[in-house]
Amino acid sequence: MLNSILFFILGLVIGSFLNVCIYRLPKGESLIYPGSHCTHCGHALSTYDLIPIVSYCCLNGKCRYCKEKISPYYALVEGGTGLLYALLFHTFGWSLELPLYMLFISILIVLTLIDWEYMLLPTPILVFGCVLGSIFRGLQAARYQNTAYLWAPLLGALVGFGLFFCSLFCWEMVL
Ligand SMILES: [Zn+2]
Repeated sequence: MLNSILFFILGLVIGSFLNVCIYRLPKGESLIYPGSHCTHCGHALSTYDLIPIVSYCCLNGKCRYCKEKISPYYALVEGGTGLLYALLFHTFGWSLELPLYMLFISILIVLTLIDWEYMLLPTPILVFGCVLGSIFRGLQAARYQNTAYLWAPLLGALVGFGLFFCSLFCWEMVL
């Protein structure tokens, strides 16, 4: 139980960073500089403000400096990431899968929300995910001495890509 809570808190912190990724990556802005700031008044956020949901609740959903209302969207992303991390720990415990799925689910959260907002799946994130997924499956295949960890996802990727490719092809034919 204590571990699940710790993973929930870790998820909140990571979720805060994912928000930065979702907000900045489609705009081509740096993830590191400048530090997080209020999107309305531009005031830099202190470390205290970066503690996600806590500061949202304490400040009643408003920017501390300009009192502009902050969208609950950010708190939802953070809370959602926290819940997913806790769920991952609950499901996998201390295992090889845990850190890898944490990373993987973080990528999926960023992709999903950027797609939702901009109808865009940035190629660098996709490539990063593919490379990471391949390394992940390679590690599993070596660890469990089972090549199914390699060919099953490859087959899945081919079928998944094939379906979308075919539907696009058919769509082009119809038009
Ligand atoms: Zn502000």
